[in-house]
Amino acid sequence: MPEAARWSLIVHGGAKTIDPDLHDRNRAGCAAAAEAGAAVLRAGGSAVFAAEVAVRVLEDDPVFNAGFGSVLTSDGTVEMDAAMMEGSGLTLGAVAGVRRVRNPVSVARLMLLARPVLLAGDGAERFATDHGMALVDPEAMVSREALASEHAKAHDTVGCVAIDAAGAIAAATSTGGLPGKHPGRIGDSPIAGAGLYADDTLGGCAFSGDGEAILRTVLAAQAMHALERGGSATEAADHAIARLGRVGGEAGVIVIERSSAFGIAHNSDHFALALHASGLDAPRAGVHRDEFKDILHG
Ligand code: ASP
Repeated sequence: MPEAARWSLIVHGGAKTIDPDLHDRNRAGCAAAAEAGAAVLRAGGSAVFAAEVAVRVLEDDPVFNAGFGSVLTSDGTVEMDAAMMEGSGLTLGAVAGVRRVRNPVSVARLMLLARPVLLAGDGAERFATDHGMALVDPEAMVSREALASEHAKAHDTVGCVAIDAAGAIAAATSTGGLPGKHPGRIGDSPIAGAGLYADDTLGGCAFSGDGEAILRTVLAAQAMHALERGGSATEAADHAIARLGRVGGEAGVIVIERSSAFGIAHNSDHFALALHASGLDAPRAGVHRDEFKDILHG
């Protein structure tokens, strides 16, 4: 990655096993999200806005388990979690267990301006309407894909880390959680220090994977501590995934360090992702570790 990159952004569409028929759809969905976020950064927009725009694209694509397309709980309902963190003021916004919001990441972004850092269920939805967002019928969030793959095992949480031209860093996550989850169950995705983190003095990260395992090993904190010890983005990503071994489970992580360098690590079969930077002509997307070397250094 060119060191002179003025801005950069990386998105993921989940650390999971991806059916070969869906590799291209995952690549294309991530590339579209990266391009949308890049358009914000190219125009001088903030990392927070770029991350929100990129994650909204992923939330709207039913191939991913976030927003429309979220997996179903054991009751057959959709319950979504999302978070946004900006690393200049360590500001955080997160929602958990929302059912009537089309783009949960946008509620999380609005919460950056509010005192609470995490709102759940009805209270989060009330916050959304109080701030002018329309609610949808919970049934409208149930996609054909979710009904068809009700019992599929998949980690399709989506995420984004971006650094803007001013050096501000944002991280965002959004998820329907684990398929068949207990109603009310909350994973790592809306929890800072577990599913995401951003600090302009170090970098940012966003995870996908077994939420309980990521929470128990505070993986975002592990990645940030690795950066604090002087590790590169790649070392921080590898360190976090290695720590997961303590409890077992599957996860993937995207990292951007303060210098704009990217890090990727996962112990799942595949990891859908795309990155873009001011030195590149187009986003680079991949789903398999064999592709990631080219994506990072090609
Ligand atoms: N991390 C998410 C959760 O446990 C699931 C996922 O990555 O798909 O809620």
